[in-house]
Amino acid sequence: MVAELINTGTELMLGRVLNTHQHWLCRRMADIGYPITRQVAIPDSGSAISEAVRESLSRAELIITTGGLGPTSDDITRERIAQLLAKPLTLDNATLDRIQQFYRVRKIVMPERARVQAMVIEGARIIENQHGTAPGLAIQVQPNNVRPDGKPALLIMLPGPPRELRPMFSESVVPLIKALLPLSDSFVCRTLRTTGLGESLIQERIGDDVEPLVSAGLDLGYCCGPSLVDVRLAARGTQALRMVADAEHIVRERIGSYIFGVEDDELPELIVRLLTERKQTLTLAESCTGGFISHQLTNVPGASVVLPAGLVTYSNAAKSTFLHVKETTLAEHGAVSEAVAIQMADGARERTGSDYALAVTGIAGPSGGTDAKPVGIVFVALAGPRGTVVRKYFNPYDRQTFKQMTAQQALEMLRRELLK
Ligand code: ATP
Repeated sequence: MVAELINTGTELMLGRVLNTHQHWLCRRMADIGYPITRQVAIPDSGSAISEAVRESLSRAELIITTGGLGPTSDDITRERIAQLLAKPLTLDNATLDRIQQFYRVRKIVMPERARVQAMVIEGARIIENQHGTAPGLAIQVQPNNVRPDGKPALLIMLPGPPRELRPMFSESVVPLIKALLPLSDSFVCRTLRTTGLGESLIQERIGDDVEPLVSAGLDLGYCCGPSLVDVRLAARGTQALRMVADAEHIVRERIGSYIFGVEDDELPELIVRLLTERKQTLTLAESCTGGFISHQLTNVPGASVVLPAGLVTYSNAAKSTFLHVKETTLAEHGAVSEAVAIQMADGARERTGSDYALAVTGIAGPSGGTDAKPVGIVFVALAGPRGTVVRKYFNPYDRQTFKQMTAQQALEMLRRELLK
């Protein structure tokens, strides 16, 4: 299947917006068995849109465009594609009603220009937008002189804002693609999410055992993030389900304890779920992560049930005042030390009466490191009903990566404790 993605937006070309649709849609499309074979980003200019869509129509069976469906003068994808296909645009009253309703519930007067979003290319299916005003459109382009193989192509136009595009894609576009362009072979894909082992170590542990399946056609891939490696297992054909299941069995046998989830699972969500199920609570005492772990946990709906407090104790004085870290410990060991991490966790747990407390103290850099305590060093302590443990990690990266890795490591420590 030739499937192409066209991301429109002058802001992408100017480096003002990171093209996350490319990453997000390519990943989803690959996981449902329709890997994107070509992707381009183009500015919001009429000629660029026409040229890119015409070119894709000459070879692809599936084309997805993103952006340019909104109400402003630079949103011209709909008009340009209508022109290219020589199809009229007509007002869809049901869509207009939905747009008017969108403004009514927000008590905003609908700008006249918003009406343009209810214009639909003749013959196109409307894909409702549950989170914004511009619907997506899908149109079967019949074989014509641009399509040399004589097959129809499915052209799907999606809105630009990620919070509109993502649910629209998952809820409506995936079923549409599967229905209109069924795969000739069955396709199975499974992603196992791991933390705590680097990709080379994972490969070392599973590689030989999975090799026969790889030789038989299993697609085995690794994708790394901060303190995270996704192991992707995919296969096509009549044996796909069995091959992927066998591979998953092997991977779980070899590195099962490092697997924290599958597909899009995230550690913060898992932690909130585990604590909720156990009716337990967690307090955070963060220094070098500056509240980042609390931020990640409070992004999860329902976190308030399990998270009574998150304290950012950056200075020594704050560590003493709010967490009762002893001044003598600070003087003797320094703020970045095992001893201080332990007292931070114990203090946070005692002061809030929570079941668990996680504390982090480290040197994010770029300055502040010494030979004994280089930039990147971080101590994570976990206090709980079974006592307090502390671990030392080394994350010598930029400050953002340092925070992401430390948060992942701290949450992983708690996950392991909760699953004991
Ligand atoms: P709107 O109604 O907001 O105008 P639209 O469908 O016309 O929607 P665009 O105007 O192209 O979409 O983009 C709206 C916003 O969505 C952009 O300003 C940008 O913040 C975000 N966006 C667009 N394309 C991308 C992309 N490829 N990756 C990430 N964000 C994007």
